[in-house]
Amino acid sequence: MLVTISTGIAARTIDRSTMRIPVDASGLQGEIGHLPASAVLFGEPLVLNCDCGKPGHLSAYSSGPGIAQMAQSLRVKRPQDWATSLLGLALAEGLSLEEAFKSAVVAQDSLATKLLDAVTAPIADILRTALCLDPDLDRIVLTGGVAIALGVQYRDAILQHLSSHGLYLTSKYNPNWAADRIVVYETDCLVGAGIAALMARAK
Ligand SMILES: [Zn+2]
Repeated sequence: MLVTISTGIAARTIDRSTMRIPVDASGLQGEIGHLPASAVLFGEPLVLNCDCGKPGHLSAYSSGPGIAQMAQSLRVKRPQDWATSLLGLALAEGLSLEEAFKSAVVAQDSLATKLLDAVTAPIADILRTALCLDPDLDRIVLTGGVAIALGVQYRDAILQHLSSHGLYLTSKYNPNWAADRIVVYETDCLVGAGIAALMARAK
Protein backbone atom coordinates (compact mmCIF):
# COMPACT_ATOMS: atom_id res chain seq x y z
CA MET A 1 0.00 0.00 0.00
CA LEU A 2 1.36 3.37 -1.01
CA VAL A 3 -0.06 6.28 0.99
CA THR A 4 0.58 9.82 -0.20
CA ILE A 5 0.22 12.49 2.47
CA SER A 6 0.62 15.84 0.81
CA THR A 7 -1.76 18.60 -0.28
CA GLY A 8 -4.27 15.77 -0.41
CA ILE A 9 -4.24 12.20 0.91
CA ALA A 10 -4.80 8.99 -1.05
CA ALA A 11 -3.70 5.35 -1.01
CA ARG A 12 -3.36 2.56 -3.51
CA THR A 13 -2.64 -1.10 -3.02
CA ILE A 14 -0.92 -3.30 -5.53
CA ASP A 15 -0.99 -7.08 -5.56
CA ARG A 16 2.61 -7.82 -6.49
CA SER A 17 1.88 -11.44 -7.38
CA THR A 18 -0.35 -10.26 -10.24
CA MET A 19 0.94 -6.66 -10.52
CA ARG A 20 -2.70 -5.63 -10.31
CA ILE A 21 -4.04 -2.46 -8.70
CA PRO A 22 -7.66 -3.23 -7.79
CA VAL A 23 -10.16 -0.48 -8.59
CA ASP A 24 -13.88 -0.02 -8.14
CA ALA A 25 -16.52 0.59 -10.80
CA SER A 26 -15.37 4.20 -11.05
CA GLY A 27 -11.75 3.21 -11.59
CA LEU A 28 -10.88 4.41 -8.11
CA GLN A 29 -9.28 2.92 -5.06
CA GLY A 30 -8.11 4.28 -1.73
CA GLU A 31 -9.45 7.83 -1.78
CA ILE A 32 -8.94 7.80 1.97
CA GLY A 33 -8.53 11.57 2.22
CA HIS A 34 -12.29 11.93 2.02
CA LEU A 35 -13.22 9.23 4.50
CA PRO A 36 -14.87 10.33 7.73
CA ALA A 37 -12.25 10.74 10.42
CA SER A 38 -12.10 12.13 13.93
CA ALA A 39 -9.52 14.40 15.51
CA VAL A 40 -8.78 15.37 19.09
CA LEU A 41 -6.85 18.38 20.35
CA PHE A 42 -6.00 18.59 24.06
CA GLY A 43 -8.52 15.86 24.74
CA GLU A 44 -11.36 17.66 22.98
CA PRO A 45 -12.94 16.49 19.71
CA LEU A 46 -12.51 18.91 16.86
CA VAL A 47 -14.45 19.12 13.59
CA LEU A 48 -12.84 20.94 10.68
CA ASN A 49 -13.88 21.29 7.06
CA CYS A 50 -12.20 19.42 4.22
CA ASP A 51 -11.13 21.07 0.96
CA CYS A 52 -14.03 19.22 -0.71
CA GLY A 53 -16.43 21.26 1.43
CA LYS A 54 -17.57 18.54 3.81
CA PRO A 55 -16.73 18.43 7.50
CA GLY A 56 -14.72 15.78 9.29
CA HIS A 57 -12.74 14.14 6.49
CA LEU A 58 -9.23 12.76 7.00
CA SER A 59 -7.69 15.49 4.82
CA ALA A 60 -9.23 18.17 7.03
CA TYR A 61 -6.78 17.15 9.79
CA SER A 62 -3.83 15.38 8.25
CA SER A 63 -3.06 16.79 4.79
CA GLY A 64 -0.73 19.78 4.43
CA PRO A 65 -3.65 22.26 4.47
CA GLY A 66 -5.26 20.14 7.21
CA ILE A 67 -2.19 20.47 9.40
CA ALA A 68 -2.30 24.24 8.86
CA GLN A 69 -5.92 24.22 10.07
CA MET A 70 -5.00 22.12 13.09
CA ALA A 71 -2.09 24.46 13.89
CA GLN A 72 -4.45 27.43 13.74
CA SER A 73 -6.89 25.65 16.09
CA LEU A 74 -4.01 24.95 18.45
CA ARG A 75 -2.96 28.59 18.38
CA VAL A 76 -6.50 29.73 19.20
CA LYS A 77 -6.87 27.16 22.00
CA ARG A 78 -3.50 27.84 23.64
CA PRO A 79 -2.36 31.35 22.65
CA GLN A 80 0.12 31.71 25.53
CA ASP A 81 1.72 28.30 24.96
CA TRP A 82 1.81 29.03 21.24
CA ALA A 83 3.60 32.37 21.68
CA THR A 84 6.40 30.80 23.74
CA SER A 85 6.70 27.52 21.84
CA LEU A 86 9.50 26.88 19.38
CA LEU A 87 6.80 26.39 16.76
CA GLY A 88 5.19 29.78 17.41
CA LEU A 89 8.54 31.54 17.65
CA ALA A 90 9.82 30.02 14.40
CA LEU A 91 6.64 31.09 12.59
CA ALA A 92 6.94 34.58 14.08
CA GLU A 93 10.46 34.74 12.64
CA GLY A 94 9.04 34.15 9.18
CA LEU A 95 9.65 30.44 8.66
CA SER A 96 7.03 28.54 6.68
CA LEU A 97 4.75 26.23 8.67
CA GLU A 98 6.51 23.22 7.14
CA GLU A 99 9.96 24.47 8.19
CA ALA A 100 8.81 25.65 11.61
CA PHE A 101 6.91 22.43 12.34
CA LYS A 102 9.83 20.24 11.26
CA SER A 103 12.42 22.14 13.32
CA ALA A 104 10.16 22.30 16.39
CA VAL A 105 9.37 18.58 16.18
CA VAL A 106 13.07 17.71 15.87
CA ALA A 107 13.78 19.91 18.92
CA GLN A 108 11.00 18.03 20.78
CA ASP A 109 9.01 21.20 21.38
CA SER A 110 6.03 20.13 23.45
CA LEU A 111 3.39 22.02 21.45
CA ALA A 112 4.76 20.80 18.10
CA THR A 113 4.79 17.25 19.46
CA LYS A 114 1.14 17.63 20.46
CA LEU A 115 0.31 18.89 16.99
CA LEU A 116 2.16 15.96 15.39
CA ASP A 117 0.33 13.59 17.70
CA ALA A 118 -3.03 15.11 16.72
CA VAL A 119 -2.45 15.10 12.95
CA THR A 120 -1.04 11.57 12.79
CA ALA A 121 -3.78 9.96 14.89
CA PRO A 122 -6.39 9.98 12.08
CA ILE A 123 -3.83 8.47 9.66
CA ALA A 124 -2.99 5.75 12.20
CA ASP A 125 -6.73 5.05 12.54
CA ILE A 126 -6.99 4.36 8.81
CA LEU A 127 -3.82 2.22 8.70
CA ARG A 128 -5.00 0.16 11.68
CA THR A 129 -8.28 -0.56 9.94
CA ALA A 130 -6.51 -1.38 6.67
CA LEU A 131 -4.17 -3.86 8.36
CA CYS A 132 -7.03 -5.33 10.36
CA LEU A 133 -9.05 -6.04 7.22
CA ASP A 134 -6.19 -7.00 4.93
CA PRO A 135 -3.34 -8.89 6.63
CA ASP A 136 -1.78 -9.39 3.17
CA LEU A 137 -0.61 -5.78 3.29
CA ASP A 138 3.05 -6.60 3.82
CA ARG A 139 4.40 -3.10 3.22
CA ILE A 140 2.83 0.30 3.81
CA VAL A 141 4.89 3.08 2.26
CA LEU A 142 4.15 6.59 3.48
CA THR A 143 5.23 9.28 1.09
CA GLY A 144 4.27 12.78 -0.05
CA GLY A 145 5.48 16.14 1.20
CA VAL A 146 4.12 15.86 4.74
CA ALA A 147 5.45 12.37 5.47
CA ILE A 148 8.81 13.01 3.80
CA ALA A 149 9.37 16.38 5.52
CA LEU A 150 8.73 14.92 8.97
CA GLY A 151 10.38 11.59 8.14
CA VAL A 152 11.39 9.47 11.10
CA GLN A 153 9.41 11.58 13.54
CA TYR A 154 6.29 11.08 11.42
CA ARG A 155 6.74 7.31 11.36
CA ASP A 156 7.46 7.24 15.09
CA ALA A 157 4.25 9.16 15.81
CA ILE A 158 2.19 6.75 13.68
CA LEU A 159 3.78 3.73 15.37
CA GLN A 160 3.15 5.26 18.80
CA HIS A 161 -0.58 5.50 18.02
CA LEU A 162 -0.62 1.91 16.74
CA SER A 163 1.24 0.76 19.82
CA SER A 164 -1.16 2.40 22.26
CA HIS A 165 -4.22 1.30 20.26
CA GLY A 166 -3.33 -1.82 18.31
CA LEU A 167 -4.99 -4.87 16.85
CA TYR A 168 -6.85 -7.37 18.98
CA LEU A 169 -4.47 -10.25 19.90
CA THR A 170 -2.12 -9.44 17.01
CA SER A 171 -0.49 -6.64 19.05
CA LYS A 172 -0.06 -9.04 21.95
CA TYR A 173 1.42 -11.96 20.02
CA ASN A 174 3.28 -9.97 17.37
CA PRO A 175 4.30 -6.61 18.87
CA ASN A 176 6.14 -5.60 15.68
CA TRP A 177 3.03 -6.02 13.52
CA ALA A 178 3.06 -2.35 12.48
CA ALA A 179 6.78 -1.47 12.68
CA ASP A 180 7.64 -4.37 10.35
CA ARG A 181 5.34 -3.01 7.66
CA ILE A 182 5.27 0.79 7.82
CA VAL A 183 8.05 2.87 6.28
CA VAL A 184 8.42 6.47 5.17
CA TYR A 185 10.03 6.55 1.78
CA GLU A 186 11.12 9.34 -0.47
CA THR A 187 10.74 7.93 -3.93
CA ASP A 188 9.53 8.79 -7.34
CA CYS A 189 6.33 6.82 -6.91
CA LEU A 190 5.04 7.78 -10.34
CA VAL A 191 7.80 5.73 -11.94
CA GLY A 192 6.59 2.63 -10.10
CA ALA A 193 2.99 3.38 -11.01
CA GLY A 194 3.99 3.79 -14.65
CA ILE A 195 5.83 0.45 -14.70
CA ALA A 196 2.84 -1.30 -13.11
CA ALA A 197 0.51 0.25 -15.70
CA LEU A 198 2.76 -0.83 -18.58
CA MET A 199 2.98 -4.37 -17.22
CA ALA A 200 -0.81 -4.50 -16.84
CA ARG A 201 -1.26 -3.31 -20.42
CA ALA A 202 1.23 -5.89 -21.73
CA LYS A 203 -0.85 -8.78 -20.31
ZN1 LIG B 1 -13.21 15.73 1.72
